[in-house]
Amino acid sequence: MDRVDVLVVGGGFLGCATAWMLAREGADVLLVERDQVNQHASGQNAGSLHFQLEYRMIERGIEAAKLAAEAMPLHLEAAQWWERLTEEVGEPLGVSQTGGLMLAHTAEQERLLHAKAEVERAWGLDVRVLDREAVLAEAPYLSPTVRAASHCPIEGKADTRLAAPALARAAARLGADVQGRCEVVRLARAGGGWTATLRSRGAGPAGPVGTERTVQADAVVLAAGVWTTELGAMIGSELPTIPLALTMSVTVRRPPLISHLVQHAGTRLSLKQAGDGNVLIGGGWPARLGRGPLGEADLARSPEIVAGSVAGNARAAVAAVPELAHVPVLRTWVGTTTVTPDQLPLVGAVPDAPGAFVATGGSAFTLGPSFAQVLTDLVQGRPAGTDLTPYDPRRYRGGARVG
Ligand SMILES: Cc1cc2nc3c(=O)[nH]c(=O)nc-3n(C[C@H](O)[C@H](O)[C@H](O)COP(=O)(O)OP(=O)(O)OC[C@H]3O[C@@H](n4cnc5c(N)ncnc54)[C@H](O)[C@@H]3O)c2cc1C
Repeated sequence: MDRVDVLVVGGGFLGCATAWMLAREGADVLLVERDQVNQHASGQNAGSLHFQLEYRMIERGIEAAKLAAEAMPLHLEAAQWWERLTEEVGEPLGVSQTGGLMLAHTAEQERLLHAKAEVERAWGLDVRVLDREAVLAEAPYLSPTVRAASHCPIEGKADTRLAAPALARAAARLGADVQGRCEVVRLARAGGGWTATLRSRGAGPAGPVGTERTVQADAVVLAAGVWTTELGAMIGSELPTIPLALTMSVTVRRPPLISHLVQHAGTRLSLKQAGDGNVLIGGGWPARLGRGPLGEADLARSPEIVAGSVAGNARAAVAAVPELAHVPVLRTWVGTTTVTPDQLPLVGAVPDAPGAFVATGGSAFTLGPSFAQVLTDLVQGRPAGTDLTPYDPRRYRGGARVG
């Protein structure tokens, strides 16, 4: 049987970043990905690096926002990571942190922005609310109907097509073994560590389709995104997550227009212009999740596009940036991500499973580097640099805590 220090399950951004960080510290790492690296949420998302509280965290009012703000230490650590990630990885990741604006069109939204910014500043985030004149001076491409906006100078974007594969290559250069088309089908405690049964799903180093082999690992990292609950069940641990199918659209290329990450305090919206000129439009508009015969979520099926979501998202985009009314949409796609019942991420040791660690929930692309840092610290037996109490998976023992 093969032996490694750490088995990382999942080749999305989080798994690749964790494998890279562990390999940098000399750990012997095996990363296995059931499909291809970056095939799921990490390669399908909007690439927003948002450190302000998002619309979904403030739409239920400021008390809910205060709870969500407990994740702010992870936001701040992630912002610093993104600033140096390209240099440390040694490949372009399409990162640019030229600032983000969350818009308000109404007086009520403006009040919410002020309350939100106060909460964020108390946690140490650099954010201030600009009036209409200042907003339009900062971002002349925005609609003059915008009343105010909160501005956070460290927000921005990264290229989701580049980031996870670059981290996987960087991990491999440091000796990590990254295997696609290889699925973990069983995990069992053995000899102070874990025995994993791996099944090949395609030609490659794991052997012909269906070939099974076992690997012994001192530690296991669950970086399985929407499949985290399934992996938790495999090791007898409750890791509740809620799958969300979301919509993204991209326009044709156009000359530079939008230089910020643009969000909205009153509707689902994220807008940014990629380096090659396409404008990415998202922000959490729902798609239809695949369902099994009993109505249960079927994560193996692709979600379906909901026409009303595409239209609603486009309307929100044009209301923010009127020029977009003249820019055709090139493509719409959908992807599935995960949140937790109380909206805070799930980060830490897996309950009742010594040597197993997990991170997921929420904006795990933005927060991926800080999740990966925490996982690396825990695997290496160090205390995490951030107080993990609010994100501790043990909060769900014996039933979900709903915030
Ligand atoms: C449309 C959309 C837009 C989004 N926009 C943003 C955004 O702008 N900013 C942001 O921060 N976040 C955004 N998100 C959320 C973000 O994409 C996810 O939080 C993040 O990518 C999760 O990364 P991950 O590596 O944890 O999971 P994933 O990328 O889902 O990777 C998990 C991997 O685990 C593999 N796996 C599962 N089970 C097994 C097994 N048994 N054996 C082997 N492999 C297994 C899966 O095949 C998968 O590839 C968005 C999500 C969507 C869908």
